[in-house]
Amino acid sequence: MKNEMNSVRTNGKTMKKLQRIHQNTEMHWVGNGFPVRSVFDYNGLGRELSPFLMLDYAAPHPFPPGKEKRGVGGHPHKGFETVTVAYQGELEHRDSSGGGGKIGAGDVQWMTAGSGIVHEEFHSADFTRQGGTLQMVQLWVNLRARDKSAPPGYQTLLKAQIPTVPLPDQAGTLRVIAGDYGEQQGPAKTFTPMNVWDVKLLAGKSVDLPLPDGHTTAFLALSGEVAVLGESNSAAGMVARTGDLAIFERAGHGLAIKANADASLLVLSGEPIAEPVVGYGPFVMNSREEIQQAFADYQLGRMGELD
Ligand code: MN
Repeated sequence: MKNEMNSVRTNGKTMKKLQRIHQNTEMHWVGNGFPVRSVFDYNGLGRELSPFLMLDYAAPHPFPPGKEKRGVGGHPHKGFETVTVAYQGELEHRDSSGGGGKIGAGDVQWMTAGSGIVHEEFHSADFTRQGGTLQMVQLWVNLRARDKSAPPGYQTLLKAQIPTVPLPDQAGTLRVIAGDYGEQQGPAKTFTPMNVWDVKLLAGKSVDLPLPDGHTTAFLALSGEVAVLGESNSAAGMVARTGDLAIFERAGHGLAIKANADASLLVLSGEPIAEPVVGYGPFVMNSREEIQQAFADYQLGRMGELD
């Protein structure tokens, strides 16, 4: 009863409680193009954040004009999807399924590695020549065992295809990349139910974001400062700043947050996949045998090649 009284409620529904704020300030370079903060990966937090396996955040980083394209050359993936969200700068992708394209600020690339793919990820030719600031996120989303053999695929989700919804009380905006918010549906086709939202929340504004009960739920603060509301929760009132991941309990019907400073957030919720996760390098499968098979398949050229 006490708990009930103290919980934050929206339309009579209990909100999700903040579990903790996770920080990892460790940086590494992906190839020579992407200086990322490894927010989580499948050997650590990714185990409890199913279906999300890995999240890298490249905070704004200046690149001088150059001649040689920076990035990472041909490499394989199998068993999951890679989601690249570009905030600043321009990227070019190419893969062995024939997919590929250029994504710039506001665009998203959603690549299904499925049964196996080889791809490359570079700065675009224009961005390389002109230089500029790069800011992006790469998220890995797991596939169920039965979908790990799905044919590889590629979705370019351009800014114009991604609905931008104004938040109540002029609190900011929410772009629906995947899933839905209110009446708006995101363009990404996903194998399991999930929401991926690009949220901008203005300083001093608060918002209740409805999210499904039972979904793994977290948000990455890309910039600014966001406080999590909720009186019944000892972690409530904690703030997330650049690179921090706020992790919520699965139970509950949404998030209540407030921006202490203009904030950019990537909000994630997804139906957990209750299957073993065995990952090694670029492959995420359900058993060690499948990982060994993936290496063998790649070496035998069964994941295709880049032209
Ligand atoms: Mn890759």
